[in-house]
Amino acid sequence: MSLEENCIFCKIVRGEIPCCKVYENDLVLAFLDLAPFNFGHTLVIPKQHSHSITTLGDDYLAAMMQAAAKIAPAILRVTKAGGFNLLLNNGSVAGQEVPHAHLHIIPRFVDDAGLLHVAKKSYGEGEMAAMAAQIAAKLATPEE
Ligand code: 5GP
Ligand code: ZN
Repeated sequence: MSLEENCIFCKIVRGEIPCCKVYENDLVLAFLDLAPFNFGHTLVIPKQHSHSITTLGDDYLAAMMQAAAKIAPAILRVTKAGGFNLLLNNGSVAGQEVPHAHLHIIPRFVDDAGLLHVAKKSYGEGEMAAMAAQIAAKLATPEE
């Protein structure tokens, strides 16, 4: 069975599994997360299967962000949340459980706990500039 046939979010796109849809267009589908951090927590997914956002076309990437910017104000109007987080877990080590790229829209309230519990690090002398230079150099060269 292919990845797409087996994928739970592809099944939702094909209508084989129900969802509580809030929005769709030709490129993306948005529906409520069934285990929300807060009520109204919504997932925006590309209609094309891709495990990672790095292998999605620019049209899908743009459509995901455009949809999130359109949907989030509606979620805030319904939930009376004061703001929202956009969260994208890419890769299992980053917390991705469903292997079909998706953007979380999470409405937030003043008394919410933090979502990320990773202590912040600090760069040593020169390390920050060196890191930026290394990443910029990789952007200029094809994948090894
Ligand atoms: P991830 O950890 O991969 O970034 O997030 C996957 C999200 O998908 C989780 O928040 C989970 O609650 C949600 N989810 C998983 N399966 C389903 C499903 O069948 N329907 C809906 N609506 N949400 C799902
Ligand atoms: Zn899929």
